[in-house]
Amino acid sequence: MARVHGNRIITRRTNYSLLKDYRNYRSILIEDFKNICGYCGKNFEYISCQSQIDHFIPLSFCKENGKDELTYKYENLVYSCSVCNRNKSNDWPSKSFTSHHNNIQGYVDPASSDYDVHLSRDENGSIIANTEVGNYMVSHFKFNVRPIDIIWLVEQLQEKLIVLEKKIEQQMDNESFKEFYIISKKLNKSFSTLKEHKEQL
Ligand SMILES: [Zn+2]
Repeated sequence: MARVHGNRIITRRTNYSLLKDYRNYRSILIEDFKNICGYCGKNFEYISCQSQIDHFIPLSFCKENGKDELTYKYENLVYSCSVCNRNKSNDWPSKSFTSHHNNIQGYVDPASSDYDVHLSRDENGSIIANTEVGNYMVSHFKFNVRPIDIIWLVEQLQEKLIVLEKKIEQQMDNESFKEFYIISKKLNKSFSTLKEHKEQL
């Protein structure tokens, strides 16, 4: 099974200057999150969906419970697509700053290796749950009804195409041509599907 983030490893830097406005972290967030949505792994190179900055522990929960400093602490920020940000919204079932979930409900920080424990991708690129908490996240982010797998497939196919193009340049044998043809057909079909469902992404 593949990782939600593919071969990209998301880690937040620890050496940063504390800024009072969390929006000013945007450029380092893009670097640390490798320009993909931390939650659904959508690559912003392929989509027109707006990128946003999500507060992992929601802003409202921090403010209501006297933890204003968490509203601008880098370790509480997630580079996110607008759909994931909206779907998660102020939901914080653990009602705790230290436990992000209770093994049944809650969230896992996408910049931690724990994310791979709870969620992964099936062979078609759909995000699937490995645990109860994973189930909770699939349901709240609506991973099961969003065509996220198509973006994944397009990216995977494009990577394969690049490798194949190089192969074909070096040796023009029939097997490579055949594979190139099949993948090109799949890629074109995926692009059409992607365009059709753009609004739901
Ligand atoms: Zn997302």
